[in-house]
Amino acid sequence: MSAVLKLQNQMDEIISYNPATGEEVGRVGCASAEDVKAAVAKSRDGFLKWKETSFPQRAALVMRAREIILDELDEIARLISDESGKPVAESLSMEIAPVLDLMQYFARHAAKILKSEKINIGLYATLGRTSKIIYKPLGTVGIIPAWNYPFSIPLGEVVMALMAGNAVIVKPSELTPFVGLKIGEIFEKAGLPEDVLQILTGDGRTGAALVDAGIEKIMFTGSVATGRKIAESAAKHLTSVVLELGGKDPMVVFADANLELAAQGAIWGAFCNSGQSCSSVERLYVEESVERKFTDLIVEKTKRLRQDSGDKETTDVAAMSSERQIKIVEDHVESFRREGAKILTGGKRNANFKGAFYEPTVISNATNQMRGMREETFGPTLPIATFKTEREAIDLANDSDFGLTASVWTRDLAKGKRVAEKILAGTVCVNEVLYTHGIGQTPWGGFKQSGYGRTHGKYGLLELVATQHIHVNRVLLTSNAWWLPYSPLAVETFRGFARYFASGSLRQTMKLAPRLLKRIKELRGK
Ligand code: NDP
Repeated sequence: MSAVLKLQNQMDEIISYNPATGEEVGRVGCASAEDVKAAVAKSRDGFLKWKETSFPQRAALVMRAREIILDELDEIARLISDESGKPVAESLSMEIAPVLDLMQYFARHAAKILKSEKINIGLYATLGRTSKIIYKPLGTVGIIPAWNYPFSIPLGEVVMALMAGNAVIVKPSELTPFVGLKIGEIFEKAGLPEDVLQILTGDGRTGAALVDAGIEKIMFTGSVATGRKIAESAAKHLTSVVLELGGKDPMVVFADANLELAAQGAIWGAFCNSGQSCSSVERLYVEESVERKFTDLIVEKTKRLRQDSGDKETTDVAAMSSERQIKIVEDHVESFRREGAKILTGGKRNANFKGAFYEPTVISNATNQMRGMREETFGPTLPIATFKTEREAIDLANDSDFGLTASVWTRDLAKGKRVAEKILAGTVCVNEVLYTHGIGQTPWGGFKQSGYGRTHGKYGLLELVATQHIHVNRVLLTSNAWWLPYSPLAVETFRGFARYFASGSLRQTMKLAPRLLKRIKELRGK
């Protein structure tokens, strides 16, 4: 049986197109609500098997899947590029390499991260009690990713969910179903037992049915609007949700930064994946005194970028993922123009291509009042604004509904860290940009409208388990002083609890001993 669910009641067909050429990549079924129900029912059986596996067994499976990816490296890179439009260089560097690293990390470390832990329970220990935490798999985890990193985002979450002992259902974006199916195929080849991972191709309706299926967890990556709908629908079943939503990420460049490096970082941060990363640089704030010099550097470097189809190894910037997305970019660039910003380079579709190619675009004289500085663009645009003081830089960076990532550029590391800690975002880098989703050990997730919950790192793994507290009383001599029946002596003892025991101090608590002994005697006499 394939990890790819055979749809019984599929709705319409989904046609996947290569956005660079407009050619059809292939067709898949669109899973209906009944298909989702059937998948969830199978997933329950898959979970019963998988949760009994040991960490070494899970790790071996993940490492086999990793080998299969390595065997098919170029084929997978090409598929990602064909379906999403991105350069094959980025399929390798931004999707496959980071997720291979994540796979080995969680295969090797999940057992340690999820090891049971003793809890220090303070003075309760003197009463002969112990507490520990154990982590249990949740059940079925539903993964609903966006189309922009169609391989690495869902695959990373699949690996973490499997390492934690869960069964998984993935609903890939309708723009990239074949990359989603590839993930299922890899695990099937690796020998994952039946029904533990299922890939359900479909559209928003399929995703909605999965959220409404009463499973244990939803890991969602996508827009704020859909995230909100998902949170509402999941609330009906009290399904817990991680929401990885949009960004409008600021880059703050101080005059003392290495401007050459910062300019290179800015164009990569703004234009890689045609600007379609949740952590793309979407607002650049540069200190006024170096604005001219820095902007010139950026424009010069941007003009040198080679835009071509993603399958060529020399392509820097390729196609966007869809016509819908390119229209948003056109709309934002037009609104920058109308509101008085200057388009220094780009600012239009690339006429050399028929597909969804938008030229890398640098915009100066931007201000936070402009629409393009407030709404997520998700395209190859780099709007630049200026600041005069550190305080102003922080205020401008924080003046946003979003808070996914940010970066601060300066040679003064103390200043960099000071500013970083004042910016409201899930990740803030100093002299680095965008890439920490690729470090599987570090938490990923946003503040404000960028969502809640975390993927990756220890905190991401803990999203995929139930935390259970085991409390043991080893002293079985007497009933507790706080049990029934109550009496004036009981109430006096409880006053002592409040005054002494709750202080956390053993010395203070000793004052309670005579009263406590009397109370225990009283209880024994009952
Ligand atoms: P969408 O919100 O449109 O879609 C995301 C996923 O949800 C897709 O699989 C989509 O299916 C599915 N979906 C759509 N409607 C529903 C519904 N009602 N219930 C359940 N699932 C549904 O986002 P995009 O795909 O356009 O992705 C772009 C967004 O993702 C940007 O805002 C970007 O910032 C964000 N993002 C955030 C990341 C983060 O880590 N914070 C990382 C990457 C992207 P279908 O595609 O088939 O319609």
